[in-house]
Amino acid sequence: MANMDKEEYKNLKKKLLSGHKNGYDLVKENELDAMEQYCADYIKFLNASKTERLCAAEVIKLAEKAGYKLYRRGMEIKTGDKIYISNRGKSVLLAHIGKQDLSHGVQIAAAHIDSPRLDLKPTPLYEESEMAWLKTHYYGGIRKYQWVTIPLELNGVIVKKNGEIININIGAAPDDPKFVITDLLPHLGQEQAKKPLATAIPAETLNLLAGSRPIGNDDESGRVKLAVMNLLYEKYQITEDDFASAELEAVPASNACEIGFDKSLIGSYGHDDRVCAYAALRGLLDLDETPEKTAVCMLADKEEIGSEGVTGMRSAAFDNFIKDLCAAQNIPLRACFEKSFCLSADVTAAFDPDYADVYDKRNAAYINYGVGLCKYTGARGKSGASDADAETVAYVRRVFDEADVIWQISELGKVDAGGGGTVAAYMAQRNITTLDAGVPVLSMHAPFETVGKLDCYETYKGVMALYRTGF
Ligand code: MN
Ligand code: MN
Repeated sequence: MANMDKEEYKNLKKKLLSGHKNGYDLVKENELDAMEQYCADYIKFLNASKTERLCAAEVIKLAEKAGYKLYRRGMEIKTGDKIYISNRGKSVLLAHIGKQDLSHGVQIAAAHIDSPRLDLKPTPLYEESEMAWLKTHYYGGIRKYQWVTIPLELNGVIVKKNGEIININIGAAPDDPKFVITDLLPHLGQEQAKKPLATAIPAETLNLLAGSRPIGNDDESGRVKLAVMNLLYEKYQITEDDFASAELEAVPASNACEIGFDKSLIGSYGHDDRVCAYAALRGLLDLDETPEKTAVCMLADKEEIGSEGVTGMRSAAFDNFIKDLCAAQNIPLRACFEKSFCLSADVTAAFDPDYADVYDKRNAAYINYGVGLCKYTGARGKSGASDADAETVAYVRRVFDEADVIWQISELGKVDAGGGGTVAAYMAQRNITTLDAGVPVLSMHAPFETVGKLDCYETYKGVMALYRTGF
């Protein structure tokens, strides 16, 4: 074999070695326009979806436009029906009823629509040094130093004792004021600069600057706080106690945009996990014909804090929705679940050459290499991972290859470098065969994350192929 000719060697290599390549060397020319259009739509979706509530509302808007109807328990369902429910305005479940009944299982794509952010504390407003501030409590895994000195907007609701809901959105419109967390100037930051990143910015200093103009006479105290409260009363008829029953979320005020001379990337807050949520949604809405099996899109809240809570993936809301659909066909839920498949669509870490030492470069996900499959997530010895079986990975490989989906397989990073989880484990706990897959992201959980357009589009194609194909 040592004297194998060049052609033979080339063929052997092609036959035996992995064919994963940069997606731009594989993608069909005529798909590039569709990719650009998809990404332009995704950018619009991102800008309308900066919190889980805004995202859920946007999802419902798009779904209704595509003919989806609000489902109510007891409604008859038939092949071809397109239905959705909203779980408390923070999580949305959609289904396109397939040709086969639910004893054949459903094809699920599950993603989450909450993202790391800064929530206001229950008693947030205070005055210090004649400036008004709002105290925050961070939500999800953030690197605190990234959240100072960037413009922030405030979104959410204040619910008054009588149940009246006041929607708050300050900072998204171009003329709106924004909020900011201050930071030390370098001239006085010498001691702070010696501290490790994790401790240099304590959580209790993540306070939003919210005003500085006093009212009343100079012999009074707390004049700036009172002035802010007065503005809020005039605009929303709320008093300080109403903050107790509010959910106000500070998120970056910047919008999504293209990145790079070639515009091949998208920078935005909240790609994790709206990039997969959008793929899961669009894949469903764009199905041109009724699928064999019922296709289900699950958009969950609370993933970033462990999928707890009534709107998280551990909530029975998901089981109840599928159970209601099963009841309409007289099929036990357990029979449906054990035949179902779920793609847990969540982002993975993209290899970053500036921080190469935390990745296993032979098992990392790369920008432009397509949707990233993750057999397992977890930390250390796969702790907390659902760890899909080989049969499931083979199934997804086959579906993706048959649909010309560009994909790669990876781990998050080096074995003992850290770890993470997704909703996969909670789907698997329900006896649903589950595999993680999603878009590789640079600077995950930062106020401004970056993804490759090609990977966004391939994830959409992958999800759609799975909706179409039986398990
Ligand atoms: Mn995620
Ligand atoms: Mn995350």
